[in-house]
Amino acid sequence: MLHDGHRAIIVDPGDAAPVLAALDDQGLTMAGILVTHHHPDHVGGLAALRPRLQGPVFGPAREDIPTPFEPLQDGAVVSLLGLDFEVMAVPGHTSGHIAYFHASAGEVEPPVLFCGDTLFSAGCGRLFEGTPAQMHQSLARLAALPADTRVCCAHEYTESNLRFAAAVEPDNADIAEAIVTCRALRAQGLPTLPSTILRERAINPFMRCDVAAVVGSAVQQGAADRSGAAVLGALREWKNNFR
Ligand SMILES: [Zn+2]
Repeated sequence: MLHDGHRAIIVDPGDAAPVLAALDDQGLTMAGILVTHHHPDHVGGLAALRPRLQGPVFGPAREDIPTPFEPLQDGAVVSLLGLDFEVMAVPGHTSGHIAYFHASAGEVEPPVLFCGDTLFSAGCGRLFEGTPAQMHQSLARLAALPADTRVCCAHEYTESNLRFAAAVEPDNADIAEAIVTCRALRAQGLPTLPSTILRERAINPFMRCDVAAVVGSAVQQGAADRSGAAVLGALREWKNNFR
């Protein structure tokens, strides 16, 4: 949720109950809903929220989102609460997945990215519908956003992702430090999110497919060649079975 003290934007409401509780707690109305992709844990709360909604539902044009919603393509701009969000096509987890980026040019607050299940802190989504090449390109687009962009991922998977990242790059000091920070936050019941693009470039193996240590580990895991797509594909397969 993003709000201005009066009105809120809701992102990927998988469940209506916590959204309604937060709106009531803080006395907020609902100005709009942003959906990144079609999975039930991102759209499951839509029907129950619509009676309270005082604005549109936006979603990816190429996916089957519960209607009505305003379909968005890459490059579209959504305006809510006086903020512009640029729509970015980021296929890989699903084939029509989109992300929403607010550049906040000239404002005091840093930019904001809602990236759904494409980018997690120290990880990425599973490739349910897309290819390694698509996910590699999607993550490259996100990596090119401003370094101070606040990365609002849809799941708190950081701790287990960092365990995997450390296996990929045992000598990466940023990952070792992130593990300590992450464990301290989680022990207090606090989130590790939002992350930043700067941080993800340093600790996220899926955003580091051109780094020698990452390429080396991917080749050991059976990457067909040293291209970004092959490295990402091998990492993703490895992570799927990593415990
Ligand atoms: Zn998903």
